[in-house]
Amino acid sequence: MTLTPLIITTMTGLFSMPNLPYATDALAPVISKETVELHYGKHLQTYVTQLNTLIQGTEYEGMNLEELVEKAPEGPIFNNAGQVLNHTLYFHQFHPSTSSTAQQPEGKLAAAINEAFGSFDEFKKQMNTASTTLFGAGWAWLAQQKDGKLVILKCPNADNPVRHGMVPLLGFDVWEHAYYVDYQNRRADHVNALWNLVDWSVVASRLK
Ligand code: MN
Repeated sequence: MTLTPLIITTMTGLFSMPNLPYATDALAPVISKETVELHYGKHLQTYVTQLNTLIQGTEYEGMNLEELVEKAPEGPIFNNAGQVLNHTLYFHQFHPSTSSTAQQPEGKLAAAINEAFGSFDEFKKQMNTASTTLFGAGWAWLAQQKDGKLVILKCPNADNPVRHGMVPLLGFDVWEHAYYVDYQNRRADHVNALWNLVDWSVVASRLK
């Protein structure tokens, strides 16, 4: 799989930070500059640094990120690899809040969502429910199964659809670090607002 061509492994077989494809204040007011600076600049940087430290000199050094997420046993390497993959997909699925990009899925993606959930509104409702009912830290994912069908997964902690043989399309991070600065305990309000940032062309490009 080549989900994350933006993750650069260096000559030494280590991972680099994925680029942030917009300014740190571009997602405001849905996600503030302060949250992006903490979430991308501190949390993701820590996952990348820890992953590089953990894989050095092990059988996992030199594997690409998807392989690590598929093969690493439960534990620190999986947790950090999962979070590097999750956050790379997350930060690249948004457009600046001022963008006039289409606010709804189109074409093949729209058809697949309608087939799986009945309508775009029903899909949003189910994704919101998955995001707000996940206990503790984790992710809600729209994912594509091997048979092509779309499903919503509730993934605890660093879990990712790749771990389950599926393709991750759209991920909502419901770890408190993703929203606490801006929304405190109001996870549902944060998730509702995220829809305004989704770049549906990026989500569609992840379909197999
Ligand atoms: Mn996060």
